[in-house]
Amino acid sequence: MSTDFAVAEYALVQEGEKEMSFLLKKISCDVLVCGSGAAGLRAGIEAFERGTNVLIIGQSRFGDAHTRLAAGGINAALGVVTQKDNWLVHAADTFEEGGKIGVPQMVEILARNANDAVIELANFGVKFARNERGQIKQRIYGAQTYPRTCYVGDYTGRAILQALVRKAKKLGVKQIDNAYITHLFKSGGKVLGCFAVDFKKGEFLVLQAKSVVLAMGGYSRVYKNSSSRPFENMGYGSYLALQNGLKLQDMEMVQFHPTGMTWPESAVGKLVTEAVRSEGGTLLNASGERLMKKYSPKMLELSARDVVARAIFTEIVEGRGTKNRGVFLDLTRVPKEKILERLPDTFKQFERYQKIDISREKMEVSPTSHYSMGGIAVNPSDCSAGLSGLFACGEATGGLHGANRLGGNSLAETLVFGKIAGVNASDFAKQNKMLEIGEIEINSARKEIESFFNRGFTAPQTLRTQLQEIMWECAGVIKDGEKLREGLEKLQELKENIPKMNVKEGLKKNSELVIALDTTSLVLVAQAVLESALLRKESRGAHYRTDFPKTLGSWQANIFAELKGGKLKLSKKMILRGSKEFERAVHAHYDRKFELWE
Ligand SMILES: Cc1cc2nc3c(=O)[nH]c(=O)nc-3n(C[C@H](O)[C@H](O)[C@H](O)COP(=O)(O)OP(=O)(O)OC[C@H]3O[C@@H](n4cnc5c(N)ncnc54)[C@H](O)[C@@H]3O)c2cc1C
Repeated sequence: MSTDFAVAEYALVQEGEKEMSFLLKKISCDVLVCGSGAAGLRAGIEAFERGTNVLIIGQSRFGDAHTRLAAGGINAALGVVTQKDNWLVHAADTFEEGGKIGVPQMVEILARNANDAVIELANFGVKFARNERGQIKQRIYGAQTYPRTCYVGDYTGRAILQALVRKAKKLGVKQIDNAYITHLFKSGGKVLGCFAVDFKKGEFLVLQAKSVVLAMGGYSRVYKNSSSRPFENMGYGSYLALQNGLKLQDMEMVQFHPTGMTWPESAVGKLVTEAVRSEGGTLLNASGERLMKKYSPKMLELSARDVVARAIFTEIVEGRGTKNRGVFLDLTRVPKEKILERLPDTFKQFERYQKIDISREKMEVSPTSHYSMGGIAVNPSDCSAGLSGLFACGEATGGLHGANRLGGNSLAETLVFGKIAGVNASDFAKQNKMLEIGEIEINSARKEIESFFNRGFTAPQTLRTQLQEIMWECAGVIKDGEKLREGLEKLQELKENIPKMNVKEGLKKNSELVIALDTTSLVLVAQAVLESALLRKESRGAHYRTDFPKTLGSWQANIFAELKGGKLKLSKKMILRGSKEFERAVHAHYDRKFELWE
């Protein structure tokens, strides 16, 4: 087993080619982790601790991945508030509220391992809120039977990411940031590594590895209004998967969070955490009516996210919204001290963007695209993703959340499945030799990038914005067949302009190139979302179609998408059954369903 990195630098220009002066650096490692969010870091830490050398590469600055936005908390049935909670209830909540199309084995693995993941985080130094007995406090989140969300104020993701970064640095795990992975190398069904552009140094990277983990986050930025930052969640993991013959799962399932900011322009879509409703925030329409009484009289504001998002959306389109096309979220009856203790970031967020004090004035909110339940299909037990030596974890993958993700379950997923991916990527690397990446393949990956330079007249930013608007308009909170078909037609027109995208030559800090790469990915991902949504002729969880409003037993199924002969092919598969224990727990869920936690 090698203990250090092999690094070579060479220029790779064929005879007769126009020479571009970009250095190409070759780096070898045992385990290459693509993505430095919670999932990638957890995988990298695990693989490193198992004795393999690891390189984590991410587009964002190390410590500034999307995970840092996660606010409200992480789920684990620790049973602190009530001992009635346990992994079986957690599993049943996850499966039921996921519209019963989550992969049972994944749900079971998550629920069984979430407690250990949270305890591990506490050992890594995450300072969870604690009660007077020193136990980790748990708040209730939407559609939970019992309170099970562990938290650090309303900045849990940041606290977790910082702890993971500290741990990785302490161990000495190598990392490269501000580098964009553009290509997977493979041969004979085995992954060999990746090609990337290092935007900080302005050079190409050939990353050779025995095993690779894809932890590149979701694709929620396929929509215009999104709670993620404008430069992330571009679906590049899904794009790479399709390009390499892997399967994506349930791409139509995108979660619209009920509460995003509605103004100013620079803050539209920015998340207002569910913790606000969990701490007593109520939703009112423009006439001051508590709207959730009509849509979900028992669960009210703590109903599942899809239910609350549709309720708000309906109030707005039916003319009962505010002048900024939102509804009110009212926290004014909650004491200011409690707001400052439990929701400090939300307080600052509104102070900063709207100059309001949320303990005195109501917030205005409307749905925003938030989370991709769909993604790369993996084998739940080892996170393998369809190529020998390739693993995937975190939001980049599909299957766990089915049609609707419960708040707090995603952070749990990143840690539980990140660890599994790390174990298996490390084991694979120990058992397999490093294979060479051919010069022809390297050259072709390089040319793919250089082909963007000086070739057309369309600004990548224009196309990306158009695409995001098409998706918001044609495949948003409420869908129908006609709109989805219109979306596909518009996307086809837009696709024809992709080869005309013009990017100025250069690699160093070339943000135009980043947007061109994002747009290339988003076009294919958007097509998978639209086609899958069109195929699913029913409504379930986040996928609501006015032309097929019922949930159908015949659609308790997953939709898989793959590229065959350059065309997207979809297939439908009825869901698999879970273990006997799991099935019993899901059954018992019906008896508890309407028992409200006071
Ligand atoms: C505002 C907000 C609040 C949230 N709050 C919660 C919460 O309270 N609880 C909860 O459970 N979940 C929450 N979520 C969801 C949760 O934050 C994410 O699902 C989770 O952090 C995903 O982690 P990840 O590691 O899978 O991906 P990410 O954190 O998205 O990391 C992906 C990594 O991949 C890199 N990457 C992507 N493409 C490329 C490329 N081409 N080349 C190189 N690198 C690339 C990125 O730079 C990044 O480093 C929230 C989400 C949002 C938007």
